[in-house]
Amino acid sequence: MTARDFLRYCVVMLKRIAILGSTGSIGRNALRVIKALGPDYRVVALTAHNNAELLAEQVRKFAPDVAAVSNPDSFAQFRAAIGSLPCRMIAGAEAMEEIASLDEVDIVLTAVVGAAGLAAVLKAVRHGKTVAIANKEPLVMAGALLTETAKETGARILPIDSEHSAVFQAMQAGNRSEVKRIILTASGGPFRRATAQQLDNATLQEALAHPTWDMGPKITVDSATMMNKALELIEAVWLFDMPPENIDILIHPESVIHSMVEYIDGSVIAQMGTPDMTVPIQYALTWPRRCKGIAPGLNFEQLAKLTFEKPDMELFRAISLGYEVAAQGGSAPVVFNAANEAAVEQFLAGRIKFTRIVELVEYCLGKHNVKTSLSLEELLEVDAWARRTAYQQSARKVVH
Ligand code: MG
Repeated sequence: MTARDFLRYCVVMLKRIAILGSTGSIGRNALRVIKALGPDYRVVALTAHNNAELLAEQVRKFAPDVAAVSNPDSFAQFRAAIGSLPCRMIAGAEAMEEIASLDEVDIVLTAVVGAAGLAAVLKAVRHGKTVAIANKEPLVMAGALLTETAKETGARILPIDSEHSAVFQAMQAGNRSEVKRIILTASGGPFRRATAQQLDNATLQEALAHPTWDMGPKITVDSATMMNKALELIEAVWLFDMPPENIDILIHPESVIHSMVEYIDGSVIAQMGTPDMTVPIQYALTWPRRCKGIAPGLNFEQLAKLTFEKPDMELFRAISLGYEVAAQGGSAPVVFNAANEAAVEQFLAGRIKFTRIVELVEYCLGKHNVKTSLSLEELLEVDAWARRTAYQQSARKVVH
């Protein structure tokens, strides 16, 4: 092989990956996937917010060129844990943005919640990177800004959320113009069979008992309110350039089909598998290829049946609000997401009851005048306003 061919080989085959949020559940799974994928996939940067100890352990194992701790208070601990390892260390809120724009990074895998994650995603998109997004906020808050910027820079935004990965995989079966509708499946959460009365009395413990997926408390509560599916609807609108009326939500308690795409000829392509996040993580990294994975396969003989039902839009008001917000666009989804985050925080702290979460979101939406074409700074202002409003209103006594 000539030197030039060798260079081409290296450039095409070697994927250099930055993981933003490497100590969380998605980050840890991403590292397992990368390790199993072998030498074509190299971790070049890792970031964490607080967990200096685990980050240092990951640096020892994966030898990235750069590692960052976004909370400056944890930096001294991180530096001590790293010792003399040859790794550039950076700290502070802008560290992730710096990493997201490094020349030596091909893929930015992001699993960072909140505003810090959004700024880093925007930076990566501005630099034309392939961005594998695990958390919902970037597309929900800034779908228009991100997709328009990606068109200009040639950046690719690939989903890691299991439903969107499923849709993305099913979309490979035809052209975008041949798609009739997207069917997002939902497990239905722990309150699928609940009455309005039971929902009203739901405890924190009940809300945290998710039937199929093992996830963090915030997203588990979002599954219980069905807010998670509403946020996924908005995500899908932007990822697949699909109007909300062409996206259906279907309850599928077994969580075997992770979502589907119906084509104009009547064919429905479903993506199935065990509920294991390493599958969507790996697909985002290896696309358009498929590589040997580490998730257990699906055992069809052990699947008694697959069932489907329509979601109760009246009981789960979050879904109908999600459709309204997705149709409004602009700053409406920002309020929807931020008010929900503030409300879930209050619920997790035991300060409000379960049904109050969606009530607070609806209250904030009602108080907000939707604006369009917002910059990142303006989006963050709306975000802060919605959090404040939800928080203040949650402290008020509710008169029934
Ligand atoms: Mg999901």
